[in-house]
Order: sequence, then structure tokens, then C-alpha cells
Amino acid sequence: MDEPFVKAKAILNILHKNGYQAYFVGGSVRDFLLQRPIGDIDIATSARPKQIIDLFPKTIDVGAVHGTVIVLHKDDQYEVTTFRTEEGYDDYRRPSHVEFVTSLHEDLKRRDFTMNAIAMTIDGDIIDPFGGRKAIKEKWIQTVGDPNERFFEDALRMMRAVRFSSQLSFLLCKETVSAIKDNASLLKKISVERITIEFEKLLSGPGCQDAIPILVNTNLYQYIPGLADETHHLGRFSLYKWSQLQGRAEYWTLICYLLNKHDIKAFLRQWKLPNKIIEQALKNVACLKKVLQSGWNQRLLYDCGAECIQQIERILNVLGVSQEVSPYQEFCKLPIKQRSDLLITGADLLLWYNQKPGKWIADLYQTVENGILENKVENNKEKIKEWLLSCNQK
Ligand code: ATP
Ligand code: MG
Repeated sequence: MDEPFVKAKAILNILHKNGYQAYFVGGSVRDFLLQRPIGDIDIATSARPKQIIDLFPKTIDVGAVHGTVIVLHKDDQYEVTTFRTEEGYDDYRRPSHVEFVTSLHEDLKRRDFTMNAIAMTIDGDIIDPFGGRKAIKEKWIQTVGDPNERFFEDALRMMRAVRFSSQLSFLLCKETVSAIKDNASLLKKISVERITIEFEKLLSGPGCQDAIPILVNTNLYQYIPGLADETHHLGRFSLYKWSQLQGRAEYWTLICYLLNKHDIKAFLRQWKLPNKIIEQALKNVACLKKVLQSGWNQRLLYDCGAECIQQIERILNVLGVSQEVSPYQEFCKLPIKQRSDLLITGADLLLWYNQKPGKWIADLYQTVENGILENKVENNKEKIKEWLLSCNQK
């Protein structure tokens, strides 16, 4: 058994000693069988949320009504969820009501795909009532039960199917594809935030090249924010290795650039992204367009700053645009990197020109910045004064 499971055995042990059933479930068991790196370990138990909270000294109640409690143990955290079925799916979203049950089998049955509906005991024995191991071996994504019913219950599962195909390089089985085609419009009912998470994971997967055409062929893309009718642009998404990008802002920069959106801010807001990501992506797209049009120059490097330049460098790489010299290295050579590096202040300009404050100060600042960046003058107070007054720069 892999080390993360060995550590997590302590949690199962405590639950067992207190008379409860407990198993490893979900993505960690799937990834263990696939010999992929294991992410979060999920545990399913017959103990009720209140009983879980009473048993462990450190817990976080993240959704006890739905049966989930986070247990903190020796710097690690585990999602411990009471065996449950889900009922009353309102609006094709998460269940309005969950019912706690005593059987592991019932709990596995409510899970989305056969590969995600496998449990593992504390001794490493596998419980696999729906043929998940076979699906993993043959690299198939297949719903537990009738795909039409399962997508009707929770339409996000359609996005999950495509993102898993990208992350794991698995194929969707025929019935799953045809059920996505039939139910694609139900995605309208799903919150944008949940779709955003799945879409980002889809792009970052090694099988993205094959997953994007699934979005198009099943028509699912018509119900993803801002992607409706973007058939042509979206097709180009398959050409690039998105996994070489780092961080969400880089993803969203490339998405905006490839979709060639006019109102980028409105597009990004549709996805309910945090303002910080929106601002960074806006800055990046503007810079990327300038670079692609006329290359880097000192002023552009200075205006972008280190963080933006490094992000653009990676995006240009993904786009296959070769850079003879590294723009970041060019940036490092600039005599000034930001406005606060200037050795003059507004007060100096007021004193030298003896005029009322006004827009002329900002203009002059820019003139000085340009002069320094173009090596026309040194970043030295006396030299700047001399240069400004002698060339009558104002
Ligand atoms: P990841 O590696 O992305 O975390 P995961 O399979 O662990 O993949 P999670 O979203 O963490 O995915 O969910 C944990 C488990 O809960 C899944 O493996 C699956 O069994 C179940 N699950 C999650 N979302 C759904 C859903 N929408 N419908 C049914 N079961 C779900
Ligand atoms: Mg998980």
C-alpha cells in the first residue's frame, strides 16, 4: 500500500475500534490502481457526522448535513463522509436531500463513474461491485448505472466525464457519449463555478487534445460560458500543450487570446473568476498582443514587469513562438524596473520648473522613464535635471 494510505490507516483504525465500518474510496483508490500519484484520500464510513466529530480531536465541519467532515491528523487532512444515497435532485444539480445508509454498496452506487466507485479496506482488499477495475484496465469511463439517469440527476457529471478523459487519457464509452449528446443542455442548470473548475482541469490534462473534440462533438460546449458557437476557435485549443502553463492567469490569458474575444473583462466575469485573475489575464492579453504584433521593446518590458513577462514567456512557448533572447533576461538588464526606482520625485520637478502641479508632471515622469530606458540619461538626480533642462524636454 502507498505511503499516504499507510498514514491514513490510523483514521480507519479509530473508526473500526469504535464499531464503525470505514473504507478508502473515490479518486485515491482509482489513482492507486492506476499507479498515479495519489491526491486527497477520501474515507467513507458508517459513522454519522456527529459521531465522527466526537471521535476525533481536530475536525472541520464542511458539510455535516451532507455527511462530510474533515478530520485533521498529523499535518494531513481527510474527507470523511458518511455512507449515503442522494435523493431529490432539484434542477439537475446537487441533491437537495441526502439519506444516510448503513451499506457501503449503496454509497458506491451513488458515485459517478465505475472507476470512482471502488472501495479499499484497511488491509488493501478491493471492493468493486460495478466493474471499476476492468474499466480502469481497459481505460474506459462509464457511469454507474444508466448514464441518462445519472446525468439527469447531476449534469456536472458530463463535464467530469470529459475532464477525466483528459486527465487520465481514458475513452468515454459509447453510451456515455450518446447520453452526453442527449443531455448536454442540462449543463445550463449547473453553477458556473463548478463548470470552471472542471474546464480548467480538462485543459491541464495530458489528454486535452482528445478531450476538446469531445466537448465539440457532444455539443456540451454550447452550454459552457462564452464558448457557444466558438466551434472554430475551440478546435484550436487542441493544438496546444496547456499543461506547460503555470497557474490560472496563464490559462485564462491563452483562452482569451485564442477565442479572440472583444470584451475580455465581460467574458472572464462570466466565469466568475476572482478579480486578481481577471486583472492579470487582462494585462497579459494586452501585452501578448503587442509582443506578437511588434516584438518586445524596453518600454513594453518595463510596463509589463517581471511577473507578466515570465507568464507571457511560457504562453509564447506554448504557442510555439520562438524567442531569440529571453525577455526576462532583457528585463533584468533594464536600468530601472519600476517607477519607484526613479531617483527623482514630483517635488523635484515642481522645484525645477516652478509651475503649478498638473498633468505635465505625469508626462514628464514618462519622458524621464523613457530617457532612462533608452539609455539617453542615467538614473541620477543631477543628470536627469541637466538632461531635462538642456533639451527642454517639457
Ligand atoms: P480528483 O483526482 O480530481 O480529486 P476524484 O475522483 O477524487 O478526482 P472528487 O471530486 O474529489 O473527484 O470526488 C471524490 C469522489 O466523490 C469521486 O471519486 C466520486 O466517487 C464521488 N463524486 C464526486 N463528484 C460526484 C458527482 N458529481 N456525482 C457522483 N459522485 C461524485
Ligand atoms: Mg478527490
